[in-house]
Amino acid sequence: MDIHTEFLDHGYKELNIPPTEKGEFAMDPNALHIWPRGDFMMIALPNLDRSFTVTLFLSNDQGAENFAKLDTQQSVVEFFKKYFSDAIDLMPTFDRQFFNNPIGLLGTTKCSKWSFEDKALLMGDAAHPIVPFYGQGMNCGFEDCYYFSELLADQGGFSKDIFQLFENFRKPHSDAIADLAVDNFYEMRDRVNDIAFVKKAALEFKLEQNFPDYFSKYSMVTFREDMSYEEAMLRGRAQDNWLIDFCKKIDSIGSIDLVELKNNMTQKVNNF
Ligand SMILES: Cc1cc2nc3c(=O)[nH]c(=O)nc-3n(C[C@H](O)[C@H](O)[C@H](O)COP(=O)(O)OP(=O)(O)OC[C@H]3O[C@@H](n4cnc5c(N)ncnc54)[C@H](O)[C@@H]3O)c2cc1C
Repeated sequence: MDIHTEFLDHGYKELNIPPTEKGEFAMDPNALHIWPRGDFMMIALPNLDRSFTVTLFLSNDQGAENFAKLDTQQSVVEFFKKYFSDAIDLMPTFDRQFFNNPIGLLGTTKCSKWSFEDKALLMGDAAHPIVPFYGQGMNCGFEDCYYFSELLADQGGFSKDIFQLFENFRKPHSDAIADLAVDNFYEMRDRVNDIAFVKKAALEFKLEQNFPDYFSKYSMVTFREDMSYEEAMLRGRAQDNWLIDFCKKIDSIGSIDLVELKNNMTQKVNNF
């Protein structure tokens, strides 16, 4: 069995934004909060207890800013004041949390085999750990269970080659979500400040609002249970490339004929 692991240069550290004194969320809980800073970023996701889990993704030891440099309380306080001044008011104990919480590694592992004869089979993260930037790692593990149970039903029960059949069927899809998750890391970190990308995101929002049969790459991956990760990746990437090229050529998305745009794009993207 060959095991190939690729780590990002980046690691992550979790911090916490507690609820306000009145017990409310300290920020809008129905928004994705991202602080993109080029080579690094911070995000915050709401919890049921009205706190937020904040995650700082930062290079371990490369670039102008990195975890290795943040080794004193003063350097941590200066770093947060410089880059996340609006967040530190919400995290009164951020410097203490910073030193108490570990730095997590971020890696993707692809294994050449998941099974041994009819004796053992890996599923979930044991077979295909991925970076967390699509929020799909756990879903992918549940999909493994779902498709294995479908396969058992199709085959009329356990058979000698069922593990191999499962692996052949599932691996292209776990490879696809692994690659999409890495893509999304670079997209969230670098591109949310890119003008063409911001126009494309606004345009896709309009397309999804106006056409129930239009799905962005993110929606295909996340919400379409009739579409595999592999198909969502191929179709979504083709759609993204077409839309980004289009947005580079326009000044604003205000006066665009959405029907014409969708027809033009669909013709091209259907041949991906
Ligand atoms: C920062 C971060 C954010 C994430 N965000 C999301 C998200 O938003 N959405 C999403 O879907 N996924 C997310 N994930 C991924 C998700 O957590 C994993 O994909 C999921 O937990 C994998 O489940 P699993 O059961 O395959 O493996 P695990 O959750 O790793 O479970 C394996 C279990 O086996 C136990 N174990 C290990 N060795 C032994 C042994 N020898 N004997 C007995 N027990 C053992 C371990 O202790 C562990 O409890 C995120 C992951 C990270 C790191």
